[in-house]
Amino acid sequence: MKIKDVVEYLESIAPRSLQESYDNAGLIVGDKDLAVTGVLIALDTIEAVLDEAIEKGCNLVVAHHPIVFGGLKTFTGKNYVERVILKAIKNDIAIYAAHTNLDNVYRNGVNGKIAEKLGLTKTRILNPKKGLLKKLSVFVPVNATESIKNALFNAGAGSIGNYSECSFRTEGIGSFKANASSNPTVGEIGAQHEEKEHRLEVVFPAYLERAVVQSLIQAHPYEEVAYDIYALENVHQEIGSGLVGELEEPMETGAFLEMLKQNMKADGIRYTALCKKKIKRVALCGGAGSFLLRNAIGAQADIFITGDYKYHQFFDAENRIIIADIGHYESEQYTIELFYELLTQKFRNFAIHCTEVNTNPINYL
Ligand SMILES: [Zn+2]
Repeated sequence: MKIKDVVEYLESIAPRSLQESYDNAGLIVGDKDLAVTGVLIALDTIEAVLDEAIEKGCNLVVAHHPIVFGGLKTFTGKNYVERVILKAIKNDIAIYAAHTNLDNVYRNGVNGKIAEKLGLTKTRILNPKKGLLKKLSVFVPVNATESIKNALFNAGAGSIGNYSECSFRTEGIGSFKANASSNPTVGEIGAQHEEKEHRLEVVFPAYLERAVVQSLIQAHPYEEVAYDIYALENVHQEIGSGLVGELEEPMETGAFLEMLKQNMKADGIRYTALCKKKIKRVALCGGAGSFLLRNAIGAQADIFITGDYKYHQFFDAENRIIIADIGHYESEQYTIELFYELLTQKFRNFAIHCTEVNTNPINYL
C-alpha cells in the first residue's frame, strides 16, 4: 500500500475540492509513492504525535487539522509548525489532513459522527452548499441509451438526495453531415444523415466532471459526441456545513446537557439561557461553528452545539435557541474514530493506530 492509495481513498469520501478557501487539506508533507509502514491517526499533528509515529513505526500521519495553512517562509524550527515540518522530513514521515472537506460531507463526515454519538436521527446538512452541481445533457442514438445511462451512473452521475440512478430523456431526431476526415458510426460521408436519438440528462457533482465525461466518451458509439454541461444553482443536499437532526424522543433540557457532556467527554459546557424546556431538534457543527447560528435557528433547532464561541456571540441566542459550546477539540475528537473506521474497513490487516496523545491545547481546572 502506497501513501497515494490512502490519500485517494480518503479523497473519494471527502474530495479535496470541497474544502473551504482558507483551508490546506491534502498531502502536506511526504512522497505519495512511498510504501506505507503504518498509519497514525490524530486530530492535530504536533511534535508529540510525530514522536509517537516514529515509536510505532508509522510513516504516515492522518490528521484532521492541517499543520500548515499559509505559506511558510523559513524552516528554522522557531515555532511548533516549523519544528513539525522539519521533524517529519528528517524522519521520512508523511502528513496528510482531511479538514473542511471532511466537515462538508454528509456521508462519513465529522458532523455525522457527532450526530451518531448523540443518537440523532433524520439528519440533514444544516447549510447545504450551492454551485457544486452540474448537469450533463447528451444526444445518443436510441439503441445506446441504456448502456450510456448506466455508464454515467457508474461514474457517479444521477444522484439526488436519497435517490440514485436519476435521469430524464426525450426523443427526437438528430442530424449531421460527416466530412472527408471523419469515420462515422452511422450515415455516409458527405451526406446529411438523420438519426432517431435521445437527449439524456443527468446531474452530477462538479468534482466528478472528468470521470463522468470520460465514461460518456467511452460508452458513446459516435466518433464525435454532442453534449452540453451546465452549472446549476441548486444546493447539493449532501455537501455543506453543520448538521441538524432529531432525538428519537424529546429530552428534558437538563438531562440532555448531562448526556451531551458525557457522550462528548466535555470537561465543561458553556451555554446560554435554557429557553427550551425540552430538546428534540439538535443542530451541530464540529469545531468553530458560530457562523451557522442563523441556519440553526432557521431549522427550528432547540439547541446549537459547537465550539469556539466568543462572549459577544452568545448574546445572539436571544432566547430563540440554546447555544452550547462544548469546546473545539471535544466536538471533533471522534474524527479520530471516524478515520479509524474508514481506514480499517478499506485496508484490512494493516497497521493503523489512533494516537494516544491528547492534542487539546486547552486545559480545564
Ligand atoms: Zn477543528
